[in-house]
Amino acid sequence: MQTILLPEKVSRILEVLAGAGHEAYAVGGCVRDAILGRIPGDWDITTNALPEEVKRLFRRTVDTGIQHGTVTVMLGEEGFEVTTYRQDGDYSDHRHPDGVVFTTSLAEDLKRRDFTINAMAYRPDTGLVDLFGGQEDLRRKVIRCVGDPRERFDEDALRIMRALRFSAQLDFTLEKKTREAIREFAPRLQLISKERIREELLKLLVSPHPDRLLDLAECGITAEIFPLWDTMLKTDQSNPYHTLSVGMHTLRVIENVPAEPVLRLAALLHDCGKPSCKTVDLGDLTHFHGHAQVGAKIAETFLKELRFDNKTVSDVTRLIVVHDDRYSATPAKVRRQINRVGEDLFPSYLKLVLADNLAKSPYALDQFMRRYATVCRLYEEIKAAGDCITLKDLAVKGSDLIAAGMKPGPEMGKVLDRMLEDVLAEPSHNDKEYLLGRYLP
Ligand code: ATP
Ligand code: MG
Repeated sequence: MQTILLPEKVSRILEVLAGAGHEAYAVGGCVRDAILGRIPGDWDITTNALPEEVKRLFRRTVDTGIQHGTVTVMLGEEGFEVTTYRQDGDYSDHRHPDGVVFTTSLAEDLKRRDFTINAMAYRPDTGLVDLFGGQEDLRRKVIRCVGDPRERFDEDALRIMRALRFSAQLDFTLEKKTREAIREFAPRLQLISKERIREELLKLLVSPHPDRLLDLAECGITAEIFPLWDTMLKTDQSNPYHTLSVGMHTLRVIENVPAEPVLRLAALLHDCGKPSCKTVDLGDLTHFHGHAQVGAKIAETFLKELRFDNKTVSDVTRLIVVHDDRYSATPAKVRRQINRVGEDLFPSYLKLVLADNLAKSPYALDQFMRRYATVCRLYEEIKAAGDCITLKDLAVKGSDLIAAGMKPGPEMGKVLDRMLEDVLAEPSHNDKEYLLGRYLP
């Protein structure tokens, strides 16, 4: 018999519910993860007790989703979602069940869940309840719908994104009928909210298998939510630096950066301007002049459409604008580049640039690596020296210019910029007397 070690608090909740004469099980993702030996993110509980009864049995509860039958039980700082057995009503909008119907049958509750591996329940005295072959699918590493895949995606197309996200997180394949239904119902993703698509796409992107983006294209999913990706996969680049298409190169870059949202998004989108900037010269060489600027604009539109927060949009687009900058590896130019990129983003910028170049052909790699090592060393030295990089570190402030007789206005900004330019080239010039003497009009 499969046994699962439940956290002490989860056992306590199951016991309290059982003690009051109810059925209660750990269910869904936590059971799946526990069997796989992964640490569950959160433990969800399913019960035949009605929400009002759950609230009576525990001292501290929050009505997090009471309309769906979910009450969060608080034990100390931790919250556990306890949901009454449900069966879903019809899905006439292909997104939400029309109504939530409570049921007394665990089987009915498990039947409404998306995939066999997510439809198992567990309690210590009963053991594992696995009505749809979830354990077998875990062993075979497949994502399979509970019931008829066409019906399940017809009800809720978000499940299409979830299928690919789980396949990327767990390194599972899509069972044949599930995959066929995904291809058939992919156009239904148009009905799903951008926020929910964003969450699934991001989880896939920071998973151990972002290369499942190829599956997204193959299944017709990106054609609906990110058609530019399909274009990137078809955009060949033939020049000494690249042997891969824009899309395949992009996949390598994604794999080469740490699994953090901003870096993975910047990697995904860093060359998204290339398809629209592509030119082929007389010698049959491909060029992409201006692709960084163009790509940053396209990326901004895409990220805003998916309702990413402003900070993410701005960090990602800033990284894209600068990802292909050329400058010499001298202290003055590196200081200017830190100023251009921003001190906060410079470490991420270095990671992106390295990942990008490692994903190009070996043609110019040696030369790049030498230059890159110098830039990194200079960056460390500049940080250690505390050199002035931005206006906030400049020895002269706007108030100094006013005190010296300048009128507030745009001219003041220009003077400060000229001073900063000087100091970036020569840090020892960051001296009030020197700067005022040299640059005051
Ligand atoms: P994660 O590790 O991302 O939390 P999870 O499997 O716990 O994965 P949740 O979104 O937390 O996923 O959902 C909890 C459970 O609810 C799932 O395991 C599944 O049984 C069910 N579920 C969630 N979303 C859907 C859906 N769109 N359709 C059907 N069942 C769903
Ligand atoms: Mg979960």
